[in-house]
Amino acid sequence: MKIQALTLFPEMFAAIGEYGVTGRAAKQGIWSFCAINPRRFADNRLGYIDDRPFGGGPGMIMMAPPLQAAIDEAVANCSGNPASRRVIYLSPQGAPLTHQKVSELAGYDNLILLCGRYEGVDERLLQSSVDEEISVGDFVVSGGELPAMMLMDAVLRLIPGVLGDIESAAQDSFANGLLDCPHYTRPSEFCGMAVPEVLKSGNHAAIAEWRLEQALRRTLNRRPDLLEGRALIPQEARLLQKILSEQQDKA
Ligand code: SAM
Repeated sequence: MKIQALTLFPEMFAAIGEYGVTGRAAKQGIWSFCAINPRRFADNRLGYIDDRPFGGGPGMIMMAPPLQAAIDEAVANCSGNPASRRVIYLSPQGAPLTHQKVSELAGYDNLILLCGRYEGVDERLLQSSVDEEISVGDFVVSGGELPAMMLMDAVLRLIPGVLGDIESAAQDSFANGLLDCPHYTRPSEFCGMAVPEVLKSGNHAAIAEWRLEQALRRTLNRRPDLLEGRALIPQEARLLQKILSEQQDKA
């Protein structure tokens, strides 16, 4: 996968390109990164790519022409089928970044990520050259670089070879529609709390059942919305019934 970020701050992307599992995968050539600074396409010697908003008001707006030139260069850098290319504007007004969206994006060969700054981007650029807008949450940060890196990290984890064991992504929260179960490691006792006995039993079927029950319990208590409309398999239905009756008994 090739990821290109259109950003005024290319250096920020060292955080994902040089560290951790994503950094290692970049060194192995599993994915490649290129940052394009729209200032290169400024029509003035000082490199300004923003201007005051029509209609007045605070802040500056990123101008369409230098961003369009940056997108054009990014598109020219892409190889392969144009249908396997996605131009994304990171925006608080976009569709929420979910596991489903991340899985969908992991299927593209080329992602072009437009990182806004200031008050945002001229609307006409978004209408003419952006495929979709994606938000990392209902809050506003100062620029699209951190949201872009969150998207990149989440997508890259799903690319074979990026994680040491692809199974770990399959067991993470949201992958199967539930939150992950709690995890424990040594020491066996910490702050007076012991590791659940079943995890030390070596009984793989019992461990799997305990983990599923814990995942259901957590999801029910923390994110009940994830269970709405879920087609429960018989084992899940049985465990959920057990959890609900326990909670009713306690109430
Ligand atoms: N005026 C814009 C609005 O209210 O929709 C916010 C501009 S924000 C200060 C600057 C840039 O940060 C945006 O253009 C966008 O690229 C990025 N950004 C801010 N919050 C974001 C979020 N929740 N998700 C994705 N990108 C975000």
